[in-house]
Amino acid sequence: MNLGRYLRRTASHQPEAEAVVCGTSRLGYAELDEQSDRLAVALRELGVGPGGRVATLAANRIELVVTEIALYKAGLTRVPINARLGAAEVAHLLRESDAAALLLDSGHLDAAREAVPGSGVKTVIGYDGESDLGPGYLDTLSRNEAEPVDVECAEDDIAVLHFTSGSTGRLKAATQTYGNRLALMRKSVMSAEARVGSGDRQILAGPVTHASGMPLMGIFFAGGCAIVLPHWDAEEFLATVQRERATHAFVVPTMVNTVLALPNAGDYDLSSLRRLIYGAAPMSPRRIREAWELFGPVLAQGYGCGETTSGVLFLTTDDHRRAIEGDDEELLLSCGRAQAEAEVAIVDDAGTPVPDGEIGEIVVRGPDVVPGYLGAPELTAESFRDGWFRTGDLARRRPDGYVFIVDRKKDMIISGGFNIYAVEVESVLHQHPDVYEAAVVGVPDEQWGEAVKAVVVPRAGAVLDEAEVVDFCAARLARMKKPRSVDFVAALPHNPNGKIDRRAIREPYWDGAARR
Ligand code: AMP
Repeated sequence: MNLGRYLRRTASHQPEAEAVVCGTSRLGYAELDEQSDRLAVALRELGVGPGGRVATLAANRIELVVTEIALYKAGLTRVPINARLGAAEVAHLLRESDAAALLLDSGHLDAAREAVPGSGVKTVIGYDGESDLGPGYLDTLSRNEAEPVDVECAEDDIAVLHFTSGSTGRLKAATQTYGNRLALMRKSVMSAEARVGSGDRQILAGPVTHASGMPLMGIFFAGGCAIVLPHWDAEEFLATVQRERATHAFVVPTMVNTVLALPNAGDYDLSSLRRLIYGAAPMSPRRIREAWELFGPVLAQGYGCGETTSGVLFLTTDDHRRAIEGDDEELLLSCGRAQAEAEVAIVDDAGTPVPDGEIGEIVVRGPDVVPGYLGAPELTAESFRDGWFRTGDLARRRPDGYVFIVDRKKDMIISGGFNIYAVEVESVLHQHPDVYEAAVVGVPDEQWGEAVKAVVVPRAGAVLDEAEVVDFCAARLARMKKPRSVDFVAALPHNPNGKIDRRAIREPYWDGAARR
């Protein structure tokens, strides 16, 4: 198998069709095919052979897409490094991944100067041109003939070392195999919600090296066009939908929030959109309704994680319609049902399925589930049992298969012996008209062990105080669940996949003390 083959096939069918757009850069299928061949040859000439690992460290740009295809064609392992990490973390990831080459933008040269010397990186290629660390990308491409590269890969060869974002604790690399990536591509064709056909144009709004890049191969397989946003800007997103006549878009809830906060969002022509897929974090029912108003009946939600190579549960557009226009309001609290090949179950600590309606942990099995974590046999054994990946998400399931997340296991607050789910308290806070965003964390408390703290970003121009927030929650929640204190902040920290980083919020309150 070789994933690059599918791109080559589409390129032979429709060489002139647009394959990828990013800012002012555009590539047709034939160009993407040729440039990725050139880069694949260049890496071979530079001594990076099959099985070698190649890291990228850059904000969204079209060359990242060329690089991804080149690495697939050459049978190499891609190591996408989050562009927001600092030099010390980059150094750690380069060492951990044992990368032999690094492609980077000029914004990361300083970090690389610190990180590369202690790592196994022999080759550094600069997307913005030559540097003291190595040659420029364009020179490297032009030095070689565009000879088709098509290295045979095995299903269990590693295609991507996907460092998970850290919302689950320490940074670790899920080993996404070529088999997993192929399953991801199949999923993009099988799932009515995610399918992007020939002639369709999908906006990828987040980092294309991470969750937002997951749909890429499915788009190229089908002959669509990927529109990669160089960075997130709510207004530019709407302008891009209008200008590019985008048919699909893939965003995270925080992005939707920023769009909804724009006073002029309704001025754009969004009529080309057939699907707005959001996911990676929960979104409040109020926001979902507002988004339905603005974008029309096009919303779909995905739930998944790095270890499952993107979405395994989907709340379809029809499900949204049933919740918003029909009589199944509760569905807006669900992240959907299992689709495509993945199997999803809700189990107790022993791994036994719990009855419908009871809370257990979401576990997933299927061809898109990674075999484990790089160089971490104990963590792998703990997280993957009998072929099932334990997500760490607590949920209940309705008899008709819809899954309702109640919290991450690690974010559950135990106060006075009661289990309090942060997500439940947050969903009440989000009902308050003056709350823009909120996170709930457990903080140390002499009497209760842990106490519920709400950290709230008020809506622009709103005046909110602690008593108002506490009373609002007290009227809607059991007594022990209401926040005991409220802090107001200008913004909440989010990780690159758009999730609120509860760990970062929690840490200062624990002041170095261990939390469970
Ligand atoms: P990551 O591995 O960093 O992609 O994070 C995966 C985690 O994000 C999951 O285990 C969930 O906790 C969370 N998540 C992903 N999708 C959703 C969703 N649709 N609703 C709620 N939480 C989600």
